[in-house]
Amino acid sequence: MFIDVAKIYVKAGNGGNGAVSFHREKYVANGGPDGGDGGTGGSIVFVVDDNLNTLLDFKYKRKFVAESGEGGQGKNCFGKNGKDVIIKVPRGTLIRDASSKAIIYDMSENDTLVIAKGGKGGFGNAKFATPTRQAPRFAKSGMPGEEREIILELKLLADVGLIGFPNVGKSTFLSIVSAARPKIANYHFTTLSPQLGVVKAPDGNSFVVADIPGLIEGAAEGLGLGHEFLRHVERCRMLVHIVDVSGVEGRDPVEDYEKINAELKKFSESLSTLQQIVVGNKMDLMTDEENMERLKQRAEKDGYKFYIISAASNQGVKELVNEVYHMLSQMPPVKHFKPEIDLQKDYEDKANHDITIRKENGVYVVESEWLLRVLGFVDYTDLESLTYMNKVLESSGVNARLEEMGIKEGDTVSIYNIQFEYVK
Ligand code: GDP
Ligand code: MG
Repeated sequence: MFIDVAKIYVKAGNGGNGAVSFHREKYVANGGPDGGDGGTGGSIVFVVDDNLNTLLDFKYKRKFVAESGEGGQGKNCFGKNGKDVIIKVPRGTLIRDASSKAIIYDMSENDTLVIAKGGKGGFGNAKFATPTRQAPRFAKSGMPGEEREIILELKLLADVGLIGFPNVGKSTFLSIVSAARPKIANYHFTTLSPQLGVVKAPDGNSFVVADIPGLIEGAAEGLGLGHEFLRHVERCRMLVHIVDVSGVEGRDPVEDYEKINAELKKFSESLSTLQQIVVGNKMDLMTDEENMERLKQRAEKDGYKFYIISAASNQGVKELVNEVYHMLSQMPPVKHFKPEIDLQKDYEDKANHDITIRKENGVYVVESEWLLRVLGFVDYTDLESLTYMNKVLESSGVNARLEEMGIKEGDTVSIYNIQFEYVK
């Protein structure tokens, strides 16, 4: 089965909590703080694997969660870092944000992307010791790992897209110009997934041809298979449009040619403006040349070059490949998609969004999962801890928002299980 779109959820590991601990040793009174830091959570990382050409793996596995960092411990022991989760995708996979559909990254330029960073481990109390604060009774919680829902969408990277009705000889053509071994059969709809083949050009360079199956009438409206696969044509630099000119199926080649072009145009205006070479195939079965002549004239009217070949008996194929290569050498490279979101900024915005503040019976109620984690380890009976908490409220922008809402000195602020008086 060919799968080229998948929705998945990724969650990086949380950072481990820092430890609160004091050095204890026989005969040593009041040892200093020795709580170690928590480990960093594992990240979720995408890598390109050129052995893959479908997103089939994501049909069954849709949730990827990386390990959390371990908590720190006494005696300055640091928690272990969580392991990264590496997700392999075929080259040409677009990663989109599931809700906005904006492109996060095109996995075709660079080979790796950290889609969700593991949370930093919290500092242990040893880190908070200063000459004036010798016994800090608080540590920092680990930060949550980043998480998001994403859509993977495969848009194969090919220089040339093969288009045409089923059974015209696309697979046969691909199999003789490249090492690809697509299934060839004398009935419609044999190819269920796009096939890529690398074609060696005369000067030793190579280009990639994709056989895009099932582009049929109505494909742009989602009928048949064609629509699904049209996305793979989007990156192509040019098209080779194969038409059966033998007339053995009783179809009219000019009509076929026009129908396929109409489908392309319905799907995307930009696709229909791609350069084409129009190829009349099955010349070995041709009984008269009239069909071929009509198609040639029709193609030339559109400004396209016309070639006549027999894929089965390998006639005219070399000339065609040379021309394709010649045209490619004068065209810009394969299209890459630019990111439409700044991933880091997006995560930051989300974290800020996560904090809600509402006024209830004169009390300012602050809620935030993120804050809850960060403040989790504060010892509220300890003055130093409270100073630390106030710093967090300041740096996370909570104080500023309280001010905006008109809070006055002495008003009550409630954060989960604690309440305190607001001091400016
Ligand atoms: P696709 O559906 O466009 O991929 O078409 P295929 O490559 O699977 O070919 C369909 C049928 O046409 C197969 O039986 C091929 O052997 C046959 N075929 C393809 N090219 C030629 C050709 O040039 N001459 C002849 N006689 N048969 C061909
Ligand atoms: Mg085929």
